[in-house]
Amino acid sequence: MSRIVALETSDIRFPTSLSLDGSDAMNPDPDYSASYVIVRTDADDEIAGHSFVFTIGRGNDVQVAGIDALAGHLVGRELEPLLDDMGGTFRELIGDSQLRWLGPEKGVMHMAIGAVINALWDIKAKRAGMPLWQLLSRMTPEQIVDLVDFRYLTNALTREDALEILRAAEAGRTEREAQLLATGYPAYTTSPGWLGYSDEKLERLAREAMADGFGQIKLKVGADLEDDIRRFRKAREVCGPDFPIAIDANQRWEVAEAIDWVNALAEFHPAWIEEPTSPDDILGHAEIARGVAPIRVATGEHAQNRMIFKQLLQAEAISVMQIDAVRVAGVNENIANLLLAAKFGVPVCPHAGGVGLCEAVQHLSMFDFVAVSGAREGRMIEYVDHLHEHFVTPTDVHDGAYFPPATPGTGMEMKADSIVAYTWTGRHVEA
Ligand SMILES: [Mg+2]
Repeated sequence: MSRIVALETSDIRFPTSLSLDGSDAMNPDPDYSASYVIVRTDADDEIAGHSFVFTIGRGNDVQVAGIDALAGHLVGRELEPLLDDMGGTFRELIGDSQLRWLGPEKGVMHMAIGAVINALWDIKAKRAGMPLWQLLSRMTPEQIVDLVDFRYLTNALTREDALEILRAAEAGRTEREAQLLATGYPAYTTSPGWLGYSDEKLERLAREAMADGFGQIKLKVGADLEDDIRRFRKAREVCGPDFPIAIDANQRWEVAEAIDWVNALAEFHPAWIEEPTSPDDILGHAEIARGVAPIRVATGEHAQNRMIFKQLLQAEAISVMQIDAVRVAGVNENIANLLLAAKFGVPVCPHAGGVGLCEAVQHLSMFDFVAVSGAREGRMIEYVDHLHEHFVTPTDVHDGAYFPPATPGTGMEMKADSIVAYTWTGRHVEA
């Protein structure tokens, strides 16, 4: 037996506002940040669990405190019972009635729970000597459904439904793992499309994205329609008439405004419109989906829990589901989200970028391909070429695909010297 001896948090902020990397219609000057946590144990293997919540800048003031608030649940506890029953551990953490009052199951505390759940998965995968995607992919259907809290889902997805989905995918697992190792998982890139970039930079990066083999690019839209028309036209000229180009409004619009704006861009054939309005407005998304069809609506990076995804799917509000590794309460809740998408037959194209989101979320898509949906067609993981150098196991993206990590763990471990160098001191360090 070993015990958890500490939950160490760090406030890490990168000065991305200085280069306008990550700028969009709602976030003009983001500082990509991580509320970082290390779960330390007294085990002889000296394995620690690393994880984080992605925030932008001042969000860390609150998010780090949220993670610290969970120390009382974990420090001093025996580790093995927590790891052996991750479903039970998840339910215990989301069930703290005093903290639950702040949500329930949404916002800062829910993401804080996600951080410690993911840190425990990091330990579990490192102990198993496997990357997370592979550890999950080799669990039995029964073990996988035991990880999921079906509370509030059963009018759309029951434990039996989930077992049926997972059992149907069981036969092809070995073959699909081999396919994944050989050809990777499709990727698209958002790097050309940040709103703060000049037209010249957009054109250069769009050209580079195609040369690098990406299957899609994405443009930020929603600040000024004339600018959007000009930028989209330039991207079309560079990429040609058939190359998929998605657009992302980052929650900028009212419902009617979204429909008008997207239809004004329809001549450029957007592959999808992402986050057209408030992420909480399920019926609004459904109205937009009807109003802009056949252009597809995508959302999810700010969907705060599995119940939001359930309703988006039930309302036929989305045709593309965008899970995020750190928005919900960790691996367990994202398995519920993957199962919901599989049940409704909607492709999952995860949100990534930020700090370490690519490193983290690739494991979930790869697990989905091997053991849940069994499909890569129509699916791709977002990729942004920023900040990977700070991670112990950076993504391996080439030829337009994510290639599966072999390092044991969740991929969320940051280099020790990066943690020290970018710990927030009240002002940005010199680059
Ligand atoms: Mg987005």
